[in-house]
Amino acid sequence: MRPRDLSSHAVYQAGRGIEEVARDLGMDPEEFVVLSSNENPIGPSPEAVAAVREHAAAVNRYPKASHVDLTEAIAERQDLAPEQVWLAPGGDGALDYLHRALLEPGDRILAPDPGFAYYSMSARYHHGTVTTYPLSKAEGFEQTAEGVLEHYDGERIVFCISPHSPCGSELPREELRALAEGTDEETLVVVDEAYAEFSESPSKASLVEERDDVAVLRTFSKAYGLAGLRVGYVLTPAAWADAYARVNTPFAVNELACRAGIAALGDESHVEESVAVARESRAVLREELDAHTWESGGNFVLAAVGDGAAVTEACRRRGVLIRDCTSFGLPECVRITCGTREETERAVAVLDDVL
Ligand SMILES: *Cc1c(COP(=O)(O)O)cnc(C)c1O
Repeated sequence: MRPRDLSSHAVYQAGRGIEEVARDLGMDPEEFVVLSSNENPIGPSPEAVAAVREHAAAVNRYPKASHVDLTEAIAERQDLAPEQVWLAPGGDGALDYLHRALLEPGDRILAPDPGFAYYSMSARYHHGTVTTYPLSKAEGFEQTAEGVLEHYDGERIVFCISPHSPCGSELPREELRALAEGTDEETLVVVDEAYAEFSESPSKASLVEERDDVAVLRTFSKAYGLAGLRVGYVLTPAAWADAYARVNTPFAVNELACRAGIAALGDESHVEESVAVARESRAVLREELDAHTWESGGNFVLAAVGDGAAVTEACRRRGVLIRDCTSFGLPECVRITCGTREETERAVAVLDDVL
């Protein structure tokens, strides 16, 4: 027997682990600067690490209390009801729950191109279909309500990314409101705020309270440095009431991830430092790279380098891992994650030399 026809499903191409890359090149993993996945270069909050240690011996129990506590901590910060906070294994898992809750077979989503691969993967898993709207390089990947609505045709969900990865551009708050106004009553506008902490502009989460057709996706993987634990969430309209309880996988987020999330939320100085390190690196990358770069609200910079794949490979051989943007439909670009000061200097030196 066989699984259902999966030929229309793309295989997720995770970046290869550093150990694997180092082994291939006969190098020590320690010699590498890893700036390919927008991870936090200073690591997780020490308080999150302590929480994981402290609760390690209790993982024989289901995460009953911690799941509730993390949900309530987030709800309180966002001034929303706990039912509006949908915890999930990463922002990716939250996308699955949204699609489970919204898509009937054949329903369409509208997603940006360039964009985030998992929107369409997850929509297809849930028997949805995918259409896209372009972000134009010639216009600096500018995001406007009008630019999205031009391609909108009654889709069930419209995705925006702000700050956008890999492009760096943002969707202004008024544009988001205009977009939500311009779509049908039964269309949800999802703003992916995976990188919101690094932006100078405020989060759009308050629109979740104000409206009944906007959801905001957040994650602990980036500014909070918990990518390895897989914990994220989506803030959903109040009117959806118990929808989460009807679609979630029971205890979606595991005990240690919940405990780390609670501790990380409480450690504001760690987030502040993470954001400060990223912003400093971002300024250095933009000033010092011998390439055209775009303004970025995230913890990364997009750079035009001619042949993204060749430049990525040349940097890799010299111990600097960056992201080739061919898979985003930008084969002439690379995305460099913001690192510590030393990592950033090394990346700039290697990249400028390669260029
Ligand atoms: C990293 C990222 C996410 C969420 O990733 P998780 O690790 O699953 O939380 C969502 N959207 C974008 C654009 C991202 O870059």
